[in-house]
Amino acid sequence: MGFEHIIGQDLLIRALKRSLARKEINHANLFSGPPGSGKRTLALLFAQALNCAHPNPPCGLCLSCRKTISGNHPNLFQIEPQGASIKIEQLRELKEKLSYLPTEGTKKICIIYGADLLTLPAGNSILKILEEPPEDVVFLLLSARPWVLLQTILSRCTHFLLKPLSDEDMLALLQTKANLSPAKQELLISLAGGNPGKALAMLSQEGWQEKLAEAHELLGRAENSAIGELFPLAEELSQRDDLQEIVATFLLVYRQKLHHLLSKGGNGSFGLERACRALFKLQEELFGTVNRRLALEVFFLKMRGVV
Ligand SMILES: [Zn+2]
Repeated sequence: MGFEHIIGQDLLIRALKRSLARKEINHANLFSGPPGSGKRTLALLFAQALNCAHPNPPCGLCLSCRKTISGNHPNLFQIEPQGASIKIEQLRELKEKLSYLPTEGTKKICIIYGADLLTLPAGNSILKILEEPPEDVVFLLLSARPWVLLQTILSRCTHFLLKPLSDEDMLALLQTKANLSPAKQELLISLAGGNPGKALAMLSQEGWQEKLAEAHELLGRAENSAIGELFPLAEELSQRDDLQEIVATFLLVYRQKLHHLLSKGGNGSFGLERACRALFKLQEELFGTVNRRLALEVFFLKMRGVV
């Protein structure tokens, strides 16, 4: 598999290909994006491409590519967090291995997964390598939280940011993986929020159908219960780890209701529109640092037309 199999990161891939074609490879590169955005896949493709002789690298088939894919390339070093952090000992070991390698024209590639989990000494150790990089060494740092990295490391990196996929790209991705009904496609795309890893994980879990049923049940409670009962419901939901997903599912339920209503040429969608607007606002707020319980209370009250 080559870069052409990656969906929805055209700009980033163009930048990678350009630097490969010009042989202008920075020795420090950062791939950032949320978990599931495809950092690992892209970094491994780039690692293959760096040592692949094919005119349009990576070919995925030559010995070097295959060794990189299987993790057995002698010039590929992969560092994963041990427990909750990447420790100085792991960097010492890496430094020692790098110092013994002959310089033979092939790139020595160090992939650091979860680079935001570098301890301060480990971060400083990387910084030292980056300040005086050994010949032909290329670092690929991967992180979902790049802002946590040492500024001194960040400033040396070429930053490749993985963007959320558009709905069209998500649809294209799902269509390569499974034969789903349009309703299921829409649900997955809505729940995954542009994150390909999340969509594929849900595809294999099937649990999202229960999520939809639960959303219907919760909204039913919010629409029909006494106003006073909305407060404990807000409290209950505010504790949930998957609150953002629940809210995304609420939106989907309302959109389907709106579609249904409009397809019948029906009027009286005012209440639905109001609820949708309140939901958009809630979704936006949940991305920030907000009092979740209060935000939910306000949503429920708006939905019921109380405020
Ligand atoms: Zn190759």
